Amino acid sequence: MKCDAEKVIYMDNNATTRIAPEVVDAMMPFLTECYGNPSSMHVFGGQVGRVVEKARKQVADLIGSEPSEITFTSCGTESDSTAILSALQAYPEKRHIVTTRVEHPAIKHLCENLSRMTGHKYRITRLQVESDGTLDIEKYEEALTEDTAIVSIMWANNETGVIFPVEKMASIAKEHGILFHTDAVQAVGKIAIDLSTIDVDFLSLSGHKLHAPKGVGVLYVKKGTPFVPFIVGGHQEGGRRGGTENVASIIGLGRACELAQEMMGEENSRVRALRDRLEQGLLASVPKSMLNGHKVDRLPNTTNISFEFVEGEAILLHMNLYNICASSGSACTSGSLEPSHVLRAMGVPFTAAHGSIRFSLSIYNTEAEVDFVLEKMPPIIAELRELSPFWKAE
Ligand SMILES: *Cc1c(COP(=O)(O)O)cnc(C)c1O
Repeated sequence: MKCDAEKVIYMDNNATTRIAPEVVDAMMPFLTECYGNPSSMHVFGGQVGRVVEKARKQVADLIGSEPSEITFTSCGTESDSTAILSALQAYPEKRHIVTTRVEHPAIKHLCENLSRMTGHKYRITRLQVESDGTLDIEKYEEALTEDTAIVSIMWANNETGVIFPVEKMASIAKEHGILFHTDAVQAVGKIAIDLSTIDVDFLSLSGHKLHAPKGVGVLYVKKGTPFVPFIVGGHQEGGRRGGTENVASIIGLGRACELAQEMMGEENSRVRALRDRLEQGLLASVPKSMLNGHKVDRLPNTTNISFEFVEGEAILLHMNLYNICASSGSACTSGSLEPSHVLRAMGVPFTAAHGSIRFSLSIYNTEAEVDFVLEKMPPIIAELRELSPFWKAE
Protein backbone atom coordinates (compact mmCIF):
# COMPACT_ATOMS: atom_id res chain seq x y z
CA MET A 1 0.00 0.00 0.00
CA LYS A 2 1.13 3.54 -0.78
CA CYS A 3 0.08 6.47 1.41
CA ASP A 4 1.75 9.45 -0.28
CA ALA A 5 2.81 10.97 3.02
CA GLU A 6 4.97 13.55 1.18
CA LYS A 7 1.88 15.04 -0.47
CA VAL A 8 -0.16 15.31 2.67
CA ILE A 9 -0.44 18.43 4.80
CA TYR A 10 -0.92 16.74 8.12
CA MET A 11 -2.63 18.85 10.77
CA ASP A 12 -4.32 16.05 12.72
CA ASN A 13 -1.62 15.32 15.27
CA ASN A 14 -4.05 15.04 18.20
CA ALA A 15 -5.51 11.99 16.42
CA THR A 16 -2.13 10.40 15.84
CA THR A 17 1.40 11.44 14.91
CA ARG A 18 4.03 10.42 12.44
CA ILE A 19 6.63 8.10 13.97
CA ALA A 20 9.86 10.09 14.19
CA PRO A 21 12.59 8.66 11.92
CA GLU A 22 14.91 8.50 14.96
CA VAL A 23 12.28 6.37 16.70
CA VAL A 24 12.09 3.94 13.77
CA ASP A 25 15.89 3.63 13.82
CA ALA A 26 15.87 2.86 17.55
CA MET A 27 13.18 0.20 17.08
CA MET A 28 14.56 -1.66 14.07
CA PRO A 29 17.02 -4.00 15.86
CA PHE A 30 14.17 -5.17 18.10
CA LEU A 31 11.99 -6.05 15.12
CA THR A 32 14.82 -8.03 13.55
CA GLU A 33 17.81 -9.67 15.26
CA CYS A 34 17.26 -8.67 18.90
CA TYR A 35 14.11 -10.71 19.39
CA GLY A 36 14.85 -12.09 22.86
CA ASN A 37 12.21 -12.14 25.59
CA PRO A 38 13.22 -9.66 28.31
CA SER A 39 12.11 -12.17 30.97
CA SER A 40 14.42 -14.96 29.75
CA MET A 41 17.34 -16.07 31.89
CA HIS A 42 19.79 -16.21 28.99
CA VAL A 43 21.95 -13.35 27.84
CA PHE A 44 20.09 -13.04 24.52
CA GLY A 45 16.89 -12.07 26.38
CA GLY A 46 18.60 -10.31 29.26
CA GLN A 47 20.23 -7.74 27.02
CA VAL A 48 16.80 -6.82 25.66
CA GLY A 49 15.55 -6.46 29.22
CA ARG A 50 18.26 -3.90 29.92
CA VAL A 51 17.19 -1.80 26.93
CA VAL A 52 13.57 -1.91 28.14
CA GLU A 53 14.83 -0.54 31.48
CA LYS A 54 16.65 2.24 29.63
CA ALA A 55 13.37 3.15 27.89
CA ARG A 56 11.63 3.19 31.28
CA LYS A 57 14.21 5.73 32.46
CA GLN A 58 13.72 7.86 29.32
CA VAL A 59 9.95 8.00 29.94
CA ALA A 60 10.47 8.74 33.65
CA ASP A 61 12.86 11.60 32.84
CA LEU A 62 10.32 13.31 30.57
CA ILE A 63 7.65 13.45 33.28
CA GLY A 64 9.87 13.86 36.35
CA SER A 65 9.17 10.47 37.91
CA GLU A 66 11.18 7.47 39.08
CA PRO A 67 11.60 4.59 36.58
CA SER A 68 9.98 2.27 39.15
CA GLU A 69 6.77 4.35 38.86
CA ILE A 70 6.44 3.60 35.11
CA THR A 71 4.36 0.64 33.86
CA PHE A 72 4.19 -0.06 30.14
CA THR A 73 0.73 -0.84 28.77
CA SER A 74 -0.80 -1.41 25.32
CA CYS A 75 -2.27 2.11 24.91
CA GLY A 76 -3.61 5.21 26.61
CA THR A 77 -7.04 3.61 26.88
CA GLU A 78 -5.67 0.64 28.83
CA SER A 79 -3.80 2.99 31.16
CA ASP A 80 -7.01 4.96 31.82
CA SER A 81 -9.04 1.83 32.57
CA THR A 82 -6.30 0.40 34.78
CA ALA A 83 -6.12 3.52 36.96
CA ILE A 84 -9.86 3.79 37.58
CA LEU A 85 -10.46 0.07 38.13
CA SER A 86 -7.46 -0.12 40.44
CA ALA A 87 -8.81 2.66 42.65
CA LEU A 88 -12.26 1.08 42.83
CA GLN A 89 -10.74 -2.23 43.92
CA ALA A 90 -8.34 -0.60 46.37
CA TYR A 91 -11.29 1.16 48.08
CA PRO A 92 -14.22 -1.26 47.58
CA GLU A 93 -16.41 0.63 50.06
CA LYS A 94 -16.22 3.87 48.06
CA ARG A 95 -18.76 4.31 45.28
CA HIS A 96 -18.17 7.74 43.75
CA ILE A 97 -16.03 9.00 40.85
CA VAL A 98 -15.44 12.64 39.97
CA THR A 99 -14.64 13.44 36.34
CA THR A 100 -15.61 16.04 33.71
CA ARG A 101 -18.01 16.33 30.81
CA VAL A 102 -15.19 16.74 28.32
CA GLU A 103 -13.09 13.59 28.88
CA HIS A 104 -11.86 11.38 26.05
CA PRO A 105 -14.13 8.36 25.33
CA ALA A 106 -11.53 6.19 27.14
CA ILE A 107 -12.73 7.71 30.44
CA LYS A 108 -16.22 8.83 29.42
CA HIS A 109 -17.39 5.42 28.22
CA LEU A 110 -15.61 3.55 31.02
CA CYS A 111 -17.50 5.60 33.62
CA GLU A 112 -20.80 5.15 31.77
CA ASN A 113 -20.27 1.38 31.57
CA LEU A 114 -19.23 1.10 35.21
CA SER A 115 -22.37 2.84 36.29
CA ARG A 116 -24.65 0.83 33.98
CA MET A 117 -23.05 -2.60 34.40
CA THR A 118 -23.21 -2.44 38.19
CA GLY A 119 -26.84 -1.33 38.28
CA HIS A 120 -25.71 2.19 39.21
CA LYS A 121 -23.70 1.03 42.20
CA TYR A 122 -21.21 3.74 41.22
CA ARG A 123 -22.18 7.38 41.19
CA ILE A 124 -20.37 9.54 38.65
CA THR A 125 -20.09 13.33 38.98
CA ARG A 126 -19.26 14.87 35.60
CA LEU A 127 -18.11 18.45 36.15
CA GLN A 128 -19.53 21.07 33.82
CA VAL A 129 -17.09 23.33 31.95
CA GLU A 130 -17.35 27.05 31.22
CA SER A 131 -17.99 28.33 27.68
CA ASP A 132 -14.23 28.59 27.10
CA GLY A 133 -13.75 24.96 28.14
CA THR A 134 -12.17 25.69 31.53
CA LEU A 135 -13.20 24.23 34.92
CA ASP A 136 -14.49 26.02 38.00
CA ILE A 137 -12.14 24.96 40.78
CA GLU A 138 -14.70 25.74 43.54
CA LYS A 139 -17.30 23.48 41.97
CA TYR A 140 -14.60 20.84 41.68
CA GLU A 141 -13.83 20.97 45.39
CA GLU A 142 -17.55 20.89 46.26
CA ALA A 143 -17.94 17.67 44.27
CA LEU A 144 -15.44 15.72 46.42
CA THR A 145 -17.05 13.58 49.13
CA GLU A 146 -16.14 10.96 51.75
CA ASP A 147 -17.40 8.39 49.27
CA THR A 148 -15.16 9.49 46.37
CA ALA A 149 -12.74 6.72 45.34
CA ILE A 150 -10.94 8.59 42.59
CA VAL A 151 -10.88 11.81 40.58
CA SER A 152 -10.09 11.46 36.88
CA ILE A 153 -9.51 14.72 35.02
CA MET A 154 -7.57 15.09 31.81
CA TRP A 155 -4.49 17.31 31.69
CA ALA A 156 -5.27 18.76 28.26
CA ASN A 157 -8.32 18.33 26.07
CA ASN A 158 -7.84 16.51 22.78
CA GLU A 159 -10.45 18.56 20.90
CA THR A 160 -9.76 22.11 22.08
CA GLY A 161 -6.30 21.79 23.62
CA VAL A 162 -7.58 23.50 26.82
CA ILE A 163 -5.27 22.79 29.77
CA PHE A 164 -6.76 22.11 33.20
CA PRO A 165 -5.04 23.19 36.46
CA VAL A 166 -4.02 19.63 37.33
CA GLU A 167 -1.43 20.59 39.92
CA LYS A 168 -3.99 22.54 41.96
CA MET A 169 -6.75 19.95 41.56
CA ALA A 170 -4.41 17.11 42.51
CA SER A 171 -3.36 18.85 45.71
CA ILE A 172 -7.01 19.52 46.65
CA ALA A 173 -7.77 15.80 46.12
CA LYS A 174 -4.78 14.97 48.31
CA GLU A 175 -6.10 17.22 51.12
CA HIS A 176 -9.33 15.19 50.99
CA GLY A 177 -7.41 11.89 50.91
CA ILE A 178 -8.74 11.03 47.45
CA LEU A 179 -6.74 9.36 44.65
CA PHE A 180 -6.13 11.56 41.59
CA HIS A 181 -5.74 10.28 38.02
CA THR A 182 -4.99 12.42 35.00
CA ASP A 183 -5.30 11.41 31.36
CA ALA A 184 -2.23 13.30 30.12
CA VAL A 185 -2.17 11.67 26.67
CA GLN A 186 -2.35 15.06 24.92
CA ALA A 187 -0.15 16.94 27.36
CA VAL A 188 2.95 14.73 27.57
CA GLY A 189 5.60 15.91 25.13
CA LYS A 190 3.82 19.20 24.41
CA ILE A 191 4.09 20.95 27.78
CA ALA A 192 6.53 20.51 30.66
CA ILE A 193 5.40 18.02 33.30
CA ASP A 194 7.25 17.40 36.55
CA LEU A 195 5.56 14.80 38.71
CA SER A 196 8.22 15.02 41.40
CA THR A 197 6.45 18.13 42.72
CA ILE A 198 2.80 17.24 41.98
CA ASP A 199 0.34 15.10 43.99
CA VAL A 200 -0.87 13.04 41.02
CA ASP A 201 -1.33 9.33 41.86
CA PHE A 202 -1.91 8.01 38.34
CA LEU A 203 -1.06 9.47 34.93
CA SER A 204 -1.78 7.98 31.50
CA LEU A 205 0.20 8.63 28.34
CA SER A 206 0.23 7.10 24.87
CA GLY A 207 3.05 6.50 22.36
CA HIS A 208 1.29 7.42 19.16
CA LYS A 209 0.45 10.93 20.31
CA LEU A 210 4.14 11.82 20.65
CA HIS A 211 5.79 10.38 17.54
CA ALA A 212 6.14 6.79 18.84
CA PRO A 213 4.13 3.84 17.46
CA LYS A 214 0.50 3.00 18.09
CA GLY A 215 -0.18 0.23 20.58
CA VAL A 216 2.07 1.28 23.45
CA GLY A 217 1.25 3.41 26.46
CA VAL A 218 2.30 4.06 30.03
CA LEU A 219 0.58 4.22 33.38
CA TYR A 220 2.51 6.20 35.97
CA VAL A 221 1.68 5.04 39.51
CA LYS A 222 3.10 7.18 42.29
CA LYS A 223 5.25 5.30 44.79
CA GLY A 224 3.07 4.26 47.72
CA THR A 225 -0.26 4.52 45.83
CA PRO A 226 -2.33 1.34 46.29
CA PHE A 227 -2.42 -0.59 43.02
CA VAL A 228 -4.41 -3.56 41.72
CA PRO A 229 -3.44 -4.87 38.25
CA PHE A 230 -5.97 -4.87 35.41
CA ILE A 231 -4.29 -7.42 33.10
CA VAL A 232 -3.20 -10.36 35.22
CA GLY A 233 -0.71 -12.97 34.03
CA GLY A 234 3.05 -13.32 34.25
CA HIS A 235 5.25 -11.28 36.54
CA GLN A 236 6.16 -8.69 33.89
CA GLU A 237 6.31 -5.01 34.80
CA GLY A 238 7.02 -5.86 38.41
CA GLY A 239 3.70 -7.71 38.64
CA ARG A 240 1.74 -4.64 37.60
CA ARG A 241 0.80 -5.84 34.12
CA GLY A 242 0.96 -9.36 32.77
CA GLY A 243 1.90 -10.07 29.15
CA THR A 244 5.23 -10.16 27.31
CA GLU A 245 6.43 -6.62 26.70
CA ASN A 246 5.91 -4.97 23.30
CA VAL A 247 9.67 -4.52 23.23
CA ALA A 248 10.19 -2.64 19.95
CA SER A 249 7.40 -0.17 20.68
CA ILE A 250 8.61 0.36 24.25
CA ILE A 251 12.11 1.16 22.93
CA GLY A 252 10.47 3.51 20.40
CA LEU A 253 8.47 5.24 23.13
CA GLY A 254 11.61 5.73 25.22
CA ARG A 255 13.41 7.35 22.29
CA ALA A 256 10.33 9.48 21.49
CA CYS A 257 10.29 10.78 25.09
CA GLU A 258 13.94 11.73 24.80
CA LEU A 259 13.23 13.58 21.53
CA ALA A 260 10.16 15.28 23.02
CA GLN A 261 12.36 16.65 25.79
CA GLU A 262 14.78 18.06 23.19
CA MET A 263 11.95 19.48 21.06
CA MET A 264 9.87 20.98 23.89
CA GLY A 265 11.35 24.43 23.25
CA GLU A 266 10.54 24.28 19.55
CA GLU A 267 7.02 23.01 20.26
CA ASN A 268 6.41 26.02 22.46
CA SER A 269 7.97 28.58 20.13
CA ARG A 270 7.94 27.60 16.44
CA VAL A 271 4.90 25.28 16.52
CA ARG A 272 2.99 27.73 18.70
CA ALA A 273 3.79 30.55 16.26
CA LEU A 274 2.59 28.44 13.32
CA ARG A 275 -0.62 27.62 15.18
CA ASP A 276 -1.19 31.28 16.01
CA ARG A 277 -0.56 32.34 12.42
CA LEU A 278 -3.07 29.76 11.19
CA GLU A 279 -5.65 30.70 13.80
CA GLN A 280 -5.38 34.45 13.39
CA GLY A 281 -5.38 34.13 9.60
CA LEU A 282 -8.53 31.99 9.54
CA LEU A 283 -10.43 34.12 12.06
CA ALA A 284 -9.55 37.26 10.07
CA SER A 285 -10.34 35.92 6.60
CA VAL A 286 -13.48 33.88 7.24
CA PRO A 287 -16.60 35.76 8.41
CA LYS A 288 -18.64 34.14 11.19
CA SER A 289 -15.75 32.03 12.42
CA MET A 290 -14.84 31.67 16.07
CA LEU A 291 -12.30 30.01 18.34
CA ASN A 292 -13.49 27.20 20.61
CA GLY A 293 -11.60 27.04 23.90
CA HIS A 294 -9.55 29.31 26.13
CA LYS A 295 -7.14 31.43 24.12
CA VAL A 296 -4.22 31.17 26.55
CA ASP A 297 -4.62 28.05 28.75
CA ARG A 298 -4.11 25.79 25.78
CA LEU A 299 -1.68 23.36 24.15
CA PRO A 300 0.70 25.14 21.77
CA ASN A 301 -0.25 22.95 18.78
CA THR A 302 -4.06 22.96 18.83
CA THR A 303 -6.72 25.27 17.46
CA ASN A 304 -10.41 24.45 17.17
CA ILE A 305 -12.38 26.84 14.98
CA SER A 306 -16.09 26.91 14.20
CA PHE A 307 -17.25 28.06 10.78
CA GLU A 308 -20.91 28.81 11.30
CA PHE A 309 -23.61 27.40 9.01
CA VAL A 310 -21.48 24.73 7.35
CA GLU A 311 -20.98 21.04 8.13
CA GLY A 312 -17.56 20.01 9.45
CA GLU A 313 -17.72 16.79 7.46
CA ALA A 314 -18.32 18.71 4.24
CA ILE A 315 -15.39 21.03 5.00
CA LEU A 316 -13.11 18.03 5.58
CA LEU A 317 -14.15 16.49 2.24
CA HIS A 318 -13.23 19.68 0.43
CA MET A 319 -9.94 19.93 2.35
CA ASN A 320 -9.22 16.38 1.18
CA LEU A 321 -9.08 17.61 -2.42
CA TYR A 322 -5.97 19.58 -1.39
CA ASN A 323 -4.59 16.75 0.79
CA ILE A 324 -5.11 18.79 3.95
CA CYS A 325 -5.81 16.54 6.96
CA ALA A 326 -7.57 17.85 10.06
CA SER A 327 -10.60 16.67 11.99
CA SER A 328 -14.13 17.76 12.68
CA GLY A 329 -16.17 18.07 15.85
CA SER A 330 -19.18 16.47 14.22
CA ALA A 331 -18.01 12.89 13.92
CA CYS A 332 -20.67 11.11 11.88
CA THR A 333 -20.89 8.17 14.26
CA SER A 334 -23.36 5.40 13.41
CA GLY A 335 -25.21 7.60 10.97
CA SER A 336 -26.29 10.24 13.47
CA LEU A 337 -24.68 13.65 13.06
CA GLU A 338 -24.08 14.29 16.76
CA PRO A 339 -21.87 17.28 17.47
CA SER A 340 -18.90 16.65 19.76
CA HIS A 341 -19.72 16.15 23.46
CA VAL A 342 -16.89 18.56 24.29
CA LEU A 343 -18.31 21.46 22.27
CA ARG A 344 -21.82 20.67 23.54
CA ALA A 345 -20.58 20.78 27.14
CA MET A 346 -19.09 24.22 26.39
CA GLY A 347 -22.48 25.36 25.13
CA VAL A 348 -21.22 26.08 21.60
CA PRO A 349 -24.36 26.84 19.55
CA PHE A 350 -25.63 24.02 17.35
CA THR A 351 -24.89 25.88 14.08
CA ALA A 352 -21.28 26.46 15.17
CA ALA A 353 -20.58 23.07 16.78
CA HIS A 354 -21.45 21.31 13.52
CA GLY A 355 -18.99 23.41 11.56
CA SER A 356 -15.99 22.99 13.84
CA ILE A 357 -12.57 21.97 12.58
CA ARG A 358 -9.63 21.01 14.78
CA PHE A 359 -6.18 21.71 13.41
CA SER A 360 -3.42 20.06 15.47
CA LEU A 361 0.14 20.75 14.38
CA SER A 362 3.51 19.18 15.09
CA ILE A 363 7.21 19.93 14.67
CA TYR A 364 6.95 18.52 11.14
CA ASN A 365 4.66 21.33 9.91
CA THR A 366 6.07 24.26 7.98
CA GLU A 367 5.14 27.88 7.39
CA ALA A 368 4.50 27.10 3.71
CA GLU A 369 1.91 24.52 4.75
CA VAL A 370 0.15 27.02 7.01
CA ASP A 371 0.09 29.56 4.18
CA PHE A 372 -1.35 26.97 1.80
CA VAL A 373 -4.15 26.17 4.27
CA LEU A 374 -4.81 29.89 4.78
CA GLU A 375 -5.17 30.30 1.02
CA LYS A 376 -7.52 27.32 0.51
CA MET A 377 -9.87 27.56 3.50
CA PRO A 378 -11.78 30.82 2.84
CA PRO A 379 -13.01 29.80 -0.64
CA ILE A 380 -13.96 26.32 0.67
CA ILE A 381 -16.13 27.84 3.40
CA ALA A 382 -17.63 30.45 1.04
CA GLU A 383 -18.52 27.78 -1.51
CA LEU A 384 -20.18 25.54 1.09
CA ARG A 385 -22.13 28.44 2.54
CA GLU A 386 -23.55 29.19 -0.89
CA LEU A 387 -25.18 25.75 -0.69
CA SER A 388 -26.40 26.13 2.88
CA PRO A 389 -30.07 27.00 3.51
CA PHE A 390 -29.07 28.23 7.02
CA TRP A 391 -26.52 30.65 5.61
CA LYS A 392 -29.06 31.96 3.05
CA ALA A 393 -31.54 32.53 5.86
CA GLU A 394 -29.04 34.69 7.78
C1 LIG B 1 -5.73 9.38 22.06
C2 LIG B 1 -6.20 9.61 23.44
C3 LIG B 1 -6.46 8.55 24.31
C4 LIG B 1 -6.37 7.12 23.89
O1 LIG B 1 -5.05 6.67 23.66
P1 LIG B 1 -4.85 5.33 22.81
O2 LIG B 1 -3.41 5.03 22.93
O3 LIG B 1 -5.28 5.65 21.43
O4 LIG B 1 -5.71 4.30 23.45
C5 LIG B 1 -6.87 8.83 25.59
N1 LIG B 1 -7.02 10.10 26.00
C6 LIG B 1 -6.78 11.15 25.21
C7 LIG B 1 -6.94 12.53 25.74
C8 LIG B 1 -6.37 10.95 23.90
O5 LIG B 1 -6.15 12.00 23.11
